[in-house]
Amino acid sequence: KLSKRLERVASFVPKDAIVADIGSDHAYLPAWLYLNHKIKKAIAGEVVEGPYNSAKSLVASLGLEEHISVRLADGLEVLKAEDGVTAITICGMGGTLIRDILIRGKAKGHLSGKERLILQPNVGEPTLRRWLQAEGYQILREDILEEDEKIYEIIVAEKTGETTNYDERTLFFGPFLGEQKGEVFAQKWQQQLEKYRYILASMEKAEQVDSAKVTEVKEKISWIEEVI
Ligand code: SAM
Repeated sequence: KLSKRLERVASFVPKDAIVADIGSDHAYLPAWLYLNHKIKKAIAGEVVEGPYNSAKSLVASLGLEEHISVRLADGLEVLKAEDGVTAITICGMGGTLIRDILIRGKAKGHLSGKERLILQPNVGEPTLRRWLQAEGYQILREDILEEDEKIYEIIVAEKTGETTNYDERTLFFGPFLGEQKGEVFAQKWQQQLEKYRYILASMEKAEQVDSAKVTEVKEKISWIEEVI
């Protein structure tokens, strides 16, 4: 059984996709996708030996070696042109790390721009959205969910030919999440508000006040107060 978080990610994978799951750990997501007849085949990428071995043994224990190729390399470097990947999932990492994987992958020619990106950053969502927008990706869907008292966001993006020009505030909350303002969204930003207020208080108590940083935190606080 898949976690609620990864099941939600799976719901954004198009039917019959060829999926690359980068940072796959146990390869739970590609295995579940294949066993549930959602995808044609998958590549499970890992850069660390331990998780790579976990993925290898899970895929072997399920007899899925012909359908899920487990590979050891950094980020998108596990991919070959002939794989014909149509969707890339990168989940359970910071948004900056996900962005850097995409940047390196693009520089090395592993992103065709035709793949659907399904990204689940644990933190640093604005950084990732900013990069997607700058690169001409369109954010098509967003989702937010709570599992085991943690809140997760999912961002689905594609190069559709249409570009967007979201401002920093929109990139901060998410173009869709900030519009929908659901229950989990409100919960997340209530928590974040407390965090930012605490940061502000500590900053103002410090011996050397970084006034630019204080202004930045105050701006975030006022954005959050407006949205919840
Ligand atoms: N994607 C799974 C999930 O969402 O449950 C696993 C998340 S786990 C917290 C992050 C995984 O990403 C780790 O197994 C780590 O080894 C892997 N990872 C980190 N940086 C990576 C990179 N540059 N290339 C491939 N895998 C990476």
